[in-house]
Amino acid sequence: MVETVSEIASLWGRILQKVKEKLNDSNIFDAFFAASYVDHMEGSTLVVVANTGLAAALLDTKYRGLLNTCILETTGTNLGLVFVEEEHLKKEAPVDKKPSFFKESHLNPNYTFKNFVVGQSNREAYQASLMISENPGKLYNPLLIYSNSGLGKTHLLFAIGQSIHEHFPKKRIAYVKGDDFTNRMINSLQNRKMQEFRDEFRKVDLFLVDDIQFIAGKQSTQEEFFHTFNSIYEAGNQIVITSDRPPLEMSLLDDRLRTRFEGGVMADVQPPDLETRMVIIRNKAAQLGLILSEDAILYIANNITANIRQLEGVIKKLTAYKEILNEVITTESVKRAIEDVIRTGSDIPKPDKIMRETSRYYSISEDEIRGLNRSKLPTEARQVAMYLMRSLTNLSLKEIGEQFTGRNHATVLSSIRKIEDILKIDPAMAAKIRDISSNINSI
Ligand code: ADP
Ligand code: MG
Repeated sequence: MVETVSEIASLWGRILQKVKEKLNDSNIFDAFFAASYVDHMEGSTLVVVANTGLAAALLDTKYRGLLNTCILETTGTNLGLVFVEEEHLKKEAPVDKKPSFFKESHLNPNYTFKNFVVGQSNREAYQASLMISENPGKLYNPLLIYSNSGLGKTHLLFAIGQSIHEHFPKKRIAYVKGDDFTNRMINSLQNRKMQEFRDEFRKVDLFLVDDIQFIAGKQSTQEEFFHTFNSIYEAGNQIVITSDRPPLEMSLLDDRLRTRFEGGVMADVQPPDLETRMVIIRNKAAQLGLILSEDAILYIANNITANIRQLEGVIKKLTAYKEILNEVITTESVKRAIEDVIRTGSDIPKPDKIMRETSRYYSISEDEIRGLNRSKLPTEARQVAMYLMRSLTNLSLKEIGEQFTGRNHATVLSSIRKIEDILKIDPAMAAKIRDISSNINSI
């Protein structure tokens, strides 16, 4: 029967075509089927990858019968079906056999200019991104986009990548997150693979760097990044960087890098106004096949104002209520979805995340922070971690103590007091706390 990757892909394409005809609802098709693909076959079972957990769940339950029918009509036989969420697959199979642009560059195919709603709050960043993608390397270099979390930086970055890939397919594109750059550089150093690391990043036509704030503070990483930046820049190639704060507020950014960033163009993205929020809600709902009344749209837009990721969270929740629980969407369910998203979406960080970011900031291992070493830096890192756990989470002093070796609520309290005292007299400590908290809160 079918064996090669391309035969399987074409078979799945024909099956989807049938699904589309029978379903006769392009919103649902686009939301749940269009992005799916077959990863491989196990015997006569198709292992299908869906773009989201919700899509995988729906294909597996609600649409399984429809898929079986279409498989039978297309192939004349029955085939087994297993559904995997894309995220999940990435974790299980780090070695990907099928190279594709999106997989190689980790670009999310849904983050396009077309899907980006433009309003007063993001127009400047949008226009600069669009111009760059039409004329890479020539206009704004580097472009630095900054905003709080959840306002579209990564979306714009990916949109630039996709558009350039489409218009200039030969251009080499590298996408990297600030913390991945750091981790991979350290790995390459350890494994004596710096040459490969440099070849990968320095010889590209488009360098997309997401969440640059994560490289601030690390001398060796900044040094390497500076050279990477210069090679790309001096070859006339395009660099786009996102950050959760403007360069001036990145207290640990190397001055040479700051000067480089300031030599380009900076565009900030503000939270969207009411009208823009309503358009985003309407579009997102349509993409997911959800019909919302104008009242519901207005209600959501009035209650979630500062973060588009949360707006999307509400719509996804409502879709799940409707599709999985078969609920009719009422004012009550809209309220419940908003409460859910605000509660979980306000992102109370987990203590291990606080530990991780404190460790990253101080370049001290987590074990050392948790441990008993009393020299100056580990002690400060430990006190800061406790202070952050107290101010960013709902953990009790006792629970905070359990994150560390040999600490109880009294010793935790005295550590926190220590930081509070320093904060009263030393603005540098406030800057440190701000930097680390901001790293903890950016996704
Ligand atoms: P950031 O990188 O700034 O934290 P993201 O780019 O990840 O934010 O955006 C969060 C979510 O909101 C994404 O799913 C993105 O597609 C969506 N989003 C952000 N801005 C817009 C916009 N203007 N129009 C449509 N969707 C948006
Ligand atoms: Mg982002």
